[in-house]
Amino acid sequence: MQSFDFSDVDELYREIILDHYRSPRNQAELEDADIVSEGVNPFCGDEVYLRMSLDGDVVDGVSFHGTGCSISQASASMLTEAIKGKSLEDAESLYFLFRDMMQGRDPTSEEQDRLGEVESLAGVKNFPIRIKCALLAWAALEDGIRAHHRRTRDGG
Ligand code: ZN
Repeated sequence: MQSFDFSDVDELYREIILDHYRSPRNQAELEDADIVSEGVNPFCGDEVYLRMSLDGDVVDGVSFHGTGCSISQASASMLTEAIKGKSLEDAESLYFLFRDMMQGRDPTSEEQDRLGEVESLAGVKNFPIRIKCALLAWAALEDGIRAHHRRTRDGG
């Protein structure tokens, strides 16, 4: 269950995915996180734990750790790079964009620019059981942002 058939994935994309899997970014655990969330996919045994610190509504720090298949961990690593410095709103819209792509909608060239390296996971949509792996960290991101909004609304 841990293996992923990369034979249908474009070579450049494969390199990007494997690079993030082998050398995941943003592993040093962030202290004083404002948002902490996690995602678990029992099917693969994938686990992702996200931590984010905020400056206003901008993500100024992010870290993750996790275990699991190459797709889940590479996707989490890409996520941390993709949302750093973005507003929560932009981070969330990137999630929706990525989710739409995983569900089969081809991104426009402007959207491809916004996705950056994340677009390298596009080929995963052809492997339906792997889509959950690719989305795991992103769903955790969305959960964390929603919980944060609930907290700040309740507190204000
Ligand atoms: Zn997986």
